[in-house]
Amino acid sequence: MPTAMSSDTKHVPHALKADIAVIGAGIAGIAHALEAARRGLSVVLFERNTHALGASIRNFGIVLPLGMSPGTIHERALRSRAVWLEIAEQAGIWHKSTGALVAAYHEDEHAVLNEFIEEAPRLGYRCAWLDPEEVVRRSPALRTNGLQGGLWSPEEVIVDPREAITKLPGYLRHTYNVELRFGKTVTGITMPYIEAGGETWCVERAIVCSGTDFETLYPAAFAASGLTRCKLQMMRTVPQPGRWRLGPILATGLSLRHYPAFSLCPSLPALKRRITQNHPAFEQWGIHILVAQNGAGELLLGDSHEYGWTPDPFDRPEIDALILTYLETILAPPSLTILQRWHGVYAKHPAHDVFLAEPEPNVRIVNGLGGTGMTTSFGLAQDVFTDWEGTRSLALQKLP
Ligand SMILES: Cc1cc2nc3c(=O)[nH]c(=O)nc-3n(C[C@H](O)[C@H](O)[C@H](O)COP(=O)(O)OP(=O)(O)OC[C@H]3O[C@@H](n4cnc5c(N)ncnc54)[C@H](O)[C@@H]3O)c2cc1C
Repeated sequence: MPTAMSSDTKHVPHALKADIAVIGAGIAGIAHALEAARRGLSVVLFERNTHALGASIRNFGIVLPLGMSPGTIHERALRSRAVWLEIAEQAGIWHKSTGALVAAYHEDEHAVLNEFIEEAPRLGYRCAWLDPEEVVRRSPALRTNGLQGGLWSPEEVIVDPREAITKLPGYLRHTYNVELRFGKTVTGITMPYIEAGGETWCVERAIVCSGTDFETLYPAAFAASGLTRCKLQMMRTVPQPGRWRLGPILATGLSLRHYPAFSLCPSLPALKRRITQNHPAFEQWGIHILVAQNGAGELLLGDSHEYGWTPDPFDRPEIDALILTYLETILAPPSLTILQRWHGVYAKHPAHDVFLAEPEPNVRIVNGLGGTGMTTSFGLAQDVFTDWEGTRSLALQKLP
């Protein structure tokens, strides 16, 4: 396997030293830096930009154990949630344990949710069915016309990613003495050396959390990985007037197609068929709809999923219109005036929940978290280090 840099591997006398280098200060890099520091390792965290601008700052900020695949990933999400609650408190980051509601407006949505609730206790999910009155009591903006009830899950948490991803590096520095090298691109790794913005670091281990940058480090490994990119369009409203609060994070029947947790439900194929027939544009643009509210009172609305190695740089107003039109049929908050529109891009593997590889000894690539990075990264980082110590075994993808 080629290494990531072409420079020689001779001894570099003036190299800076750390036990471990983490490359990329999105949520995956932050989580691995935290876990390494908690294990008593000295850590240097590199970020190309002066603050991280990738998927981690562009997302909803929803920690959503409910949607995760049963077993390892769901359990990882619950451990991540516990870390979020702990560090958000310590770092003074706004967060709210709102739980989540999945509202059912169709027979097939009702059926899928009830099938899921039946299996939930066995699989470790805590959730319950609510009748329409109880749904509206928790989430007063939902329209009652056609509402059949909903699934309530108490585990979900919302953070504001713009605040969290900006503040957490400072928390790592102050609390754990993590060395921050922001505004420095890592251009080469030949263990034990890391080259970044004119500095050379000598480290024992490195973790590459480079998100959708598949080209700078280990490009051959990424080219062979099967990873692709996925572009998502998002919107946020003006702050809701009168300090109005949404209540729980809201998901819709469309989300049941999206989250792997629900794939165990026998009624899911019928639901998918109805949506494909009645809403082909939702299928075309991978639209499923979530609504969450941040600390400023703004509603975050999204999203769509367009896959491909080279995402279109331009957004599609028709996707936003589809999301808003659908939303208006089920939700009547005080204001749906849009304040901001943007898109984010994440890396995704078609067959694996996460892409883990060892491109050279003592280096791990941690990537391909898809739509789950905010939900699972802290637990994943725990697993990566436990695995590295030889006490748990994670499947590493083979590289050519
Ligand atoms: C619109 C949207 C909504 C989402 N909503 C949610 C949600 O609500 N809940 C959830 O769980 N997940 C959500 N996700 C998914 C989540 O955001 C991603 O899984 C996660 O952010 C991926 O984190 P990452 O650290 O791997 O990548 P990124 O956040 O992209 O970070 C990678 C970082 O590495 C840096 N970097 C790359 N190469 C180098 C280099 N050579 N040197 C230095 N720095 C480098 C980049 O600058 C970047 O900052 C959403 C994603 C999007 C796009």
